[in-house]
Formats: sequence, structure tokens, C-alpha cells
Amino acid sequence: MDYHNIFSDIAIELQAMENLGAVASYIPELQNVDSQKFGIHLSTIDKQDYSYGDSNDKISIQSIAKVLALTLAFVLEKDNLWNRVGVEPSGSPFNSLIQLEYEKGIPRNPFINAGALVICDILVSRLSRPEQEFLEFTRAVSGNAHINYGSRVAESERLTSYRNAAHLNLMKAYGNIRNDIDTVLDFYCHLCSIEMTCKELAQGFLYLASNGVNPFTGQRVIGESEAKRINAIMQLCGFYDEAGEFAFTVGLPGKSGVGGGIIAIHPGNYSIAVWSPKLNNKGNSYRGMRILEFFTTRTQSSIF
Ligand code: GLN
Repeated sequence: MDYHNIFSDIAIELQAMENLGAVASYIPELQNVDSQKFGIHLSTIDKQDYSYGDSNDKISIQSIAKVLALTLAFVLEKDNLWNRVGVEPSGSPFNSLIQLEYEKGIPRNPFINAGALVICDILVSRLSRPEQEFLEFTRAVSGNAHINYGSRVAESERLTSYRNAAHLNLMKAYGNIRNDIDTVLDFYCHLCSIEMTCKELAQGFLYLASNGVNPFTGQRVIGESEAKRINAIMQLCGFYDEAGEFAFTVGLPGKSGVGGGIIAIHPGNYSIAVWSPKLNNKGNSYRGMRILEFFTTRTQSSIF
């Protein structure tokens, strides 16, 4: 398949469309990005790589990191994890508090903020140096020793994290947060601030396309069955109240972040990372979704 040709056709399509949406500003530091940038990187399980555009720019991966956090928590806790967080789509925004009270502090899934905060609480309980060990895990999973936290973004989010603090307080009242709220919030803001390029994202998440093994490092990140389950949760919950739209138009398991990145997985085939900073009103990259829609249409590679 001539992926370079497909990517340049996608770029032509994008030029013809308005770049709608807005860069995330509720985390002030995220605004300092050129909203016209976009990048694409495709990695196949037979270790072929294809790049386009600003695919080597570091981006703030934000909620994409929730997939890595879930992976590590799943390795450590096994199925006990599901006593504290569900696997159902939320149908509500990523930072909504409404369901949490109805459901007595048990978040619907690990990809809405409430669920990711419970996962962070579990990791804080399990790891003796959570920030350091999580970074080491991320570096090992992606076979890249240079991945780091974005300290300015972490600090910026921490200073404005009133909603996430509200989630933690409510869940603590229900007994579903075991650690100190500030400690969990610090850890969460750090993991959201991880900086990776599209290339690093595509290569780093290839284990989900390859039954839990990273083909570049040969390392088993997680069991085959667990990788399959994480893909299932990405399919149903990776785009919050737009998960249906993503399945409908793109047709791959995936996960978005408010930095404008999206990772999508074709199990048994490839992982693809795209980035464009402007978000639609659901908090997902406007152009990122269009790019992936064109890509799976042109390559006829939706999983459906
Ligand atoms: N750090 C962001 C937050 O908690 C992550 C949200 C996202 O990327 N959807 O609000």
C-alpha cells in the first residue's frame, strides 16, 4: 500500500476543509501551540513506519496516557481492578461528575477522568515511587528512554485542577480513593503531561496491535487477553460521548487527548497516531478524527 500517497491525499483534503474547533485552554499551558500543525505516523506490526507532517513534534499526550496507566494497573491488579472501575461507555463528557454520584463513586470506565483517577490511586498504592516508576514503564513499553513529563503542563494543570479534585473528593467520600487526594492529583497531572511525538506514540502503542508484545523491543507488555480487553475498552470508551461517532466514521479502537493527539489501533495490523491541536466540542481533535476517517476509508481497514 502506498501510504505516503494516501497521506498526501489526506493533506490535500484537509487544506480544502476549514480547521474547525478550538485549542484546549482550560489548562492554560496547552494554548501555546500552533493550531495549524498536524502530524501522522503509522507503524505496522512488521515494523514498517510511515510519517507525514509534524509527526516528530512533541505533543502533550494528555488522556492518551490513561491507556498506559490502565495497562500498568491491569498488570499489577489483574481482574481485581474491575471492583473499583467499570467497563461501560459513559455517554457523557470526560470530566462529568454527574454519573459518579448515581453510581456511588464507581466510575463507568478507566478513560473518563474519574476512572483514570481511580487507576492513579491504585498505582499510588502499588508503586513506591509512582512518578518515576510510571515513567520507566512508559519508556520500557515504547522502547524509548527519552520520554519525559512536561513539567510546565503538569504544573499548569495542577493549578487549575478543581474539577479533578472534586472527582477525587467525591470518590473518597464513597471509599473508592485510598490515598491522599493531593498525591493522587499530582500523579495524575504528571502522567497527562507526558510528551511524545506521533512516531513515539504509534510505536509505543503497537503492543495493542500485536497481542500485548511490542514488535520493536520484543518485550511482552501485557497478556494477549488483557490487550484484547484494553482494545475493547478503547473502542467503547476512548472518545467519551463521541465513542459511537468514532466507531461509526473511523472504525478502530482508539484514544484521544486534549492535546489534540489520537492513537488508534488495528489489532493484528497497525497502530496510527495523529495530531492536530484544535478540538471539537467533545474534546476530541477535529482534524484528527477526519484524518483517521479518510485513512480507514482509503485503506479499507476499519475493523468492521
Ligand atoms: N488532563 C486532562 C484533564 O484531566 C485530560 C483530559 C483529556 O485529555 N481528555 O482534564
